[in-house]
Amino acid sequence: LKMTMISVEEALSKVLNLINTLETEEKPILKSLGQVLAEDVYAPFNVPPKDNSAMDGYAVNFESIAGARNNNPKILHVTGNLPAGADTELRIEKGAAARIMTGAFVPDGTDVVVPFEETDEVERRSSELNPDEIGILTELPVGSNIRMSGEDIKKGELVLGKGKLLLPADIGMLASMGRKTISVFRRPRVAIISTGDEIVDVDQPLVSGKIYNSNTYSLAALVLHYGGIPKILGIVKDEIKQVTDTLRRGFDCDLILTSGGVSLGDFDVVKDVLTVEGDISFWRVCMKPGKPIAFGVFNAEDGKVVPHLGLPGNPVSAMITFEIFVRPAMLKMMGRIDLDKQEIEAIMEDSVVNTDGRRIFARVIVEKRDDIYFVRLTGPQGSGILKSMVQADGLAIIPEIVDEVKPGETVKVLLLNRN
Ligand code: AMP
Ligand code: MG
Repeated sequence: LKMTMISVEEALSKVLNLINTLETEEKPILKSLGQVLAEDVYAPFNVPPKDNSAMDGYAVNFESIAGARNNNPKILHVTGNLPAGADTELRIEKGAAARIMTGAFVPDGTDVVVPFEETDEVERRSSELNPDEIGILTELPVGSNIRMSGEDIKKGELVLGKGKLLLPADIGMLASMGRKTISVFRRPRVAIISTGDEIVDVDQPLVSGKIYNSNTYSLAALVLHYGGIPKILGIVKDEIKQVTDTLRRGFDCDLILTSGGVSLGDFDVVKDVLTVEGDISFWRVCMKPGKPIAFGVFNAEDGKVVPHLGLPGNPVSAMITFEIFVRPAMLKMMGRIDLDKQEIEAIMEDSVVNTDGRRIFARVIVEKRDDIYFVRLTGPQGSGILKSMVQADGLAIIPEIVDEVKPGETVKVLLLNRN
């Protein structure tokens, strides 16, 4: 099998071409956090629905308080006491005031709310002054401390557009409009299969010659991290029948991930299975780590087409190829428009040598000093050194055409664990 190498961009566009946005589902608003809105949401009414008080104080008519000062209080007759949640038939006439709490709808005739602090309410309680009256100590302009109906949202306004990623504020906004459920794009179900005769799961003793299965867990965690639902299908031996049967158990998912078995070794059977059962797109990508990758689709019996990404077995390669290919695929399924990972420019403090003209994704520690980002390598960069991923908060990109990045040179860095 001698295949030409393709670029990361070419590989990604092949993947994305075969990935479709999933169907929509109606979900309770809180459950839709992190999903993408599949409908335009218009305001059914003004928010707030009526003018209401922004302070605890006295609802008054401006004419009644014009000229009020500490040494010249305006004494008004108290005609009501309005807690939040009360609606009232009361009208505020000139010379009258209603005691009002924050959030209560202001009575007709109100054009100012005077906060308690600007009245003589406290002294009045401990004195002989008439408790049915209130002294206003300051003139406040018309509109003071009144939240106008519709000042947040106007009836009929487009509040949240289709395609919006739902964040906590959006969930609150939906609630403020009385929405209980909302239409969003479904989360993808992602099947995860680890291959390798040498791999055992964490509930087994580690006998000689074996290593623990880390890929199933890092990949399932990445699926969860980016909003998908993992379906763990365990470990399969490097044996065509087992691999084939287990792949079939992933046909009810939206995407199948395997790790291992895609290199050119004698027992790398995932590629052999795919050649027979599936439709293969590419094998070798010009990147490091992560060169051997299989991408293809399975045609399930019911006519369903299930995309499959065969990730390399090396724990770092598996995670990085996930970040570069699986993450955007999942986001596209979930209806996200912007699939790019957050990227910064930083000054490299180590030297990185590019020996074979591939794009290197170097694991780096990012530090900000005096508003400038600096990065340094996590340490040894072998594709089996999972500790490098534990320590990394970014992947510095060394382009394929660059032979060496020297200390002090600028690199682009994909930020990990930030979105
Ligand atoms: P492969 O791509 O199958 O040749 O595997 C490459 C390397 O990754 C080998 O050293 C494997 O032992 C290791 N590897 C493969 N699968 C896993 C896994 N699930 N967990 C940890 N290491 C693995
Ligand atoms: Mg293997």
